[in-house]
Amino acid sequence: MKTLVYSNIYTMDCTHPFVEAMCIEDGVVKEIGGRGQFAEQDMDQVLNYSEQFIFPGFIDTHVHTSPCGALMTGVQVHGETTITGVLAAIKDRAKSEPSGQWIFVAGFQDKNMKEKRFPTLEELDQISTSHPIMIVHNDLHPYMCNTCAVERLHLNPEVDGVETNKKNEPNGMVVDPYCMPLLEEISQIMPKDELIAGYKKMDDYAVSNGVTTVFTKDFYPMQRILWENRSQFKTTTHPMVMINGCTNEKDIARVVEDQDFARRATMCVFADGAFDGWSASVIDPYKDRPDSFGMLYYSDEELYAFVERVHLAEMQASVHAIGDNAIEQVLRVYERVLAKYPRADHRHRIEHFECPTKRAILKAAELGVALGMQPLLLEVCEGMDMEGYRCFIGDRVERCSPYRSVLDMGILVGGGSDFSVTEMKPLRAIMIGMQHPVPGERFSLTEGLQMYTCNAAKLGCLEDRKGKLIPGLDADFVVLAENPYTTPTEEIADIPILKTYTFGRLAYEK
Ligand SMILES: [Zn+2]
Repeated sequence: MKTLVYSNIYTMDCTHPFVEAMCIEDGVVKEIGGRGQFAEQDMDQVLNYSEQFIFPGFIDTHVHTSPCGALMTGVQVHGETTITGVLAAIKDRAKSEPSGQWIFVAGFQDKNMKEKRFPTLEELDQISTSHPIMIVHNDLHPYMCNTCAVERLHLNPEVDGVETNKKNEPNGMVVDPYCMPLLEEISQIMPKDELIAGYKKMDDYAVSNGVTTVFTKDFYPMQRILWENRSQFKTTTHPMVMINGCTNEKDIARVVEDQDFARRATMCVFADGAFDGWSASVIDPYKDRPDSFGMLYYSDEELYAFVERVHLAEMQASVHAIGDNAIEQVLRVYERVLAKYPRADHRHRIEHFECPTKRAILKAAELGVALGMQPLLLEVCEGMDMEGYRCFIGDRVERCSPYRSVLDMGILVGGGSDFSVTEMKPLRAIMIGMQHPVPGERFSLTEGLQMYTCNAAKLGCLEDRKGKLIPGLDADFVVLAENPYTTPTEEIADIPILKTYTFGRLAYEK
């Protein structure tokens, strides 16, 4: 099957940044060039998008698969501002679900509630004792369960992160450090077809936003399910395998020894939590809790053991680090490993890199550490007025999401959503980064597009397949109704995505 596409094509390749025609064969870009360069009679299909604008399909470098797949089909409470409203929405769903069926609740933010709290176990039990109910905070931690879910998940009051009542029984609330391990439990408890159905919803959502490659962050069992069923999905998935504990050799070895994942998967751990729960690790104490510095999940030695193991397996490490102290810890460990086993182009990653010190930015550049960053955190967490985190970290909020500082140091940055923390909407993310509340930290449109195409591909070592529209690479592309280069910045997010193609096949049509 040979397809010729006419359009205004931005290839994201600096040798031929703009072409008018592209020839696709067997899902791959064969040739690019001028309008008159190709013989239409040799083609099976000619697509004329001369009035539209084509870019490489967007790549989201950080997406949480479960519970987000399940949350896509869950109760949505984004707009609710009262506990009564949230409970009513759950009750409504419980009426139509057969008993025993999981009910996930997405988009919950306790700070948006008039009551400034989660529903209690008792309140959730009043809705149902036969459906396991779990409310997932919008930041993906903490969670709140009813008794049925507590039982299904075998929540153990002895485990750190499982909160208890006066009788030392679980009170339904799960906080860090147990949030991520619990996700693995859920992906094993839920029926496989439900997990796949949830992921398919996410897949449809991705292509509707022009996303053609998704870096899926999840535990090994879910990664196996995604890998085995990959032909059912429109997007390409790139595994970011979460490891449950830095020294969990069993967890690490099963990935390293898996022929499908060896050398190509990214291995992920968390160095700290988030500002919202005072669990991001900070050098100076929290503003509203002067005796709290957050927490590091691992000692330097534990983190070193993980990075060394991954590095020696010739794989890529990725460590979530939000607070300045956690970021410095990760860099310290990367430096030690790289000093002992130097490797050019290792591409070890830090996720979020949300509030680094200046010296950390310099160190990341020096070590060649790559970053997975999420511009929509500016809107959703830090706040476009920067007030979202000021209560937690005071003026340090001005240091958050330092795009200009990072890019000027030549650091490789890939864009992502951290879905469902923020929406999987690259055009919106680019627009927000171009309007960074600290004007000196804004990035340009081209830099934003690179973060979601060619540089994102590089972040996942996929540059020989994805991220540009040049011969030999997959024909993943998005057709936009307007040219972002001539659209006012504040309207970029509203540019209609008319079509999305993956491997030369239509995956979405508006
Ligand atoms: Zn994340």
